[in-house]
Amino acid sequence: MGRCIHCDKDGVFVFTDRFGLCPRCRTVVALDLNDRASSLNGCAEVVDTSKELVTRLARCDEAIEHLRYTRDAQVQ
Ligand SMILES: [Zn+2]
Repeated sequence: MGRCIHCDKDGVFVFTDRFGLCPRCRTVVALDLNDRASSLNGCAEVVDTSKELVTRLARCDEAIEHLRYTRDAQVQ
């Protein structure tokens, strides 16, 4: 018997991985984290290449939000 930490589904036939995710949620969480990582890389590239300070700072704020989301997703 398992309980998914993401969807809270439980039962005899609910199998979870080492992160506590059922197969359906594992896919959803993996896609979400991949999107976050891609966005984070985009932010880092703009911060490295933009000549506009305002743009660079805005992308830093966006990167921080992505990192906070990822950190909080790990805690649940
Ligand atoms: Zn689940």
